[in-house]
Amino acid sequence: MAGAAGIKVAAVVAAGGTGTRMHSGTPKQFLEIARKPILLHTVESISSLESVKEIVIALPREHKDKAEAIVQQQKMPVNIRCVAGGSNRQESVYRGVTNIRMDADIIMVHDAVRPLCDREVMVRVLGAAHRHGAAVPGLQATETIQRVSRHGRVLATPPRHELHAIQTPQAFQAEIIKSALERAHREEFLGTDESSVVRWAGHRVMVVPGSADNIKITRPADLVIAEMLMSQKTGVPTNMGMNESGFRIGHGIDYHRLIEARSLILGGVAIPFDKGLEGHSDADVLSHAVCDALLGAAGLGDIGLHFPDTDPRNRDRSSLNFLREVRSKVDDAGWKILNVDATLLVQRPRLAPHIPAMRQKIADALDLDKAGVNIKATTTEGLNAEGRGEGMSAQAVALITRK
Ligand code: MG
Repeated sequence: MAGAAGIKVAAVVAAGGTGTRMHSGTPKQFLEIARKPILLHTVESISSLESVKEIVIALPREHKDKAEAIVQQQKMPVNIRCVAGGSNRQESVYRGVTNIRMDADIIMVHDAVRPLCDREVMVRVLGAAHRHGAAVPGLQATETIQRVSRHGRVLATPPRHELHAIQTPQAFQAEIIKSALERAHREEFLGTDESSVVRWAGHRVMVVPGSADNIKITRPADLVIAEMLMSQKTGVPTNMGMNESGFRIGHGIDYHRLIEARSLILGGVAIPFDKGLEGHSDADVLSHAVCDALLGAAGLGDIGLHFPDTDPRNRDRSSLNFLREVRSKVDDAGWKILNVDATLLVQRPRLAPHIPAMRQKIADALDLDKAGVNIKATTTEGLNAEGRGEGMSAQAVALITRK
């Protein structure tokens, strides 16, 4: 830390949240992003600073055991303790500060639900507090902020360059924050954050640049944003899509040979042509590709596993039946089909007039809206087995989600 080498820092983490705005029974500091509780991310980022020697987490008494279990999961190079907080945030921070055991030069106060504070911001705040006594990270207002009367009338438009949204961590020389919180406690002054208490007590507070990524997780949508920011920061792919509420994608491909004296069935539709596809069932190459995409998405193997061509019951069977069965297998595994997209590779006949009927049949078999099934056909410009009229093929992708 420039100009502040050797200073000893203690941190107080305020984790007073009850989760009411999250519509969740779990207090937000215990919700997970990137597979770890938010509180653990926050504590890890603080403990990664060499100057931090002690962390005190202040939180409601009933959450103390849970928080202790979480922070003990990870071996961190600092002394970490949980203490019961007070009736409001300021009282909780006050209790945290009075429970610091070390002889700290600087006390840093941070919200438990700001897991994305980067090292640069913390270093800036600590350096400025060391030099000036008190420092906070802030972001210059980007929107116009008005002073408004109780009746909704604009009273004044403060100049925007003077307006900053203040974040945490906030840092203070130890004696300054201790005496300010002590006096506020005695005189029952309640500030909106620690820096307002310190200023109320007559001290100068400096603002240093904060970070737009240093968001405070308060609403459900913040969790999604935090998850994405965490993924960018760590380079680890986001958890979304892999967890129980996520999405899965699947791919399917199928080929059948064209032979004489067989009717041509594609997507459950009989198509007038002088040849048909060879196979044990009706050899509906499109339906088979869609089956494989769905089974693939749900991690259920492939069509050969579920409908072996050694089984006489599958002889000449309509592949729409396979699709219906696949849908119920996917359903039983707890997944809901979102959409299917497929491409037929067929030189002849021209398929465009039959595509609406194929979409309808496949959508009905999958119990999907027609809009959830897309089918395309292309020739191969005379190339490959399809182009030479020796066979037909189809490829499909499917997207499913947890029900
Ligand atoms: Mg097949």
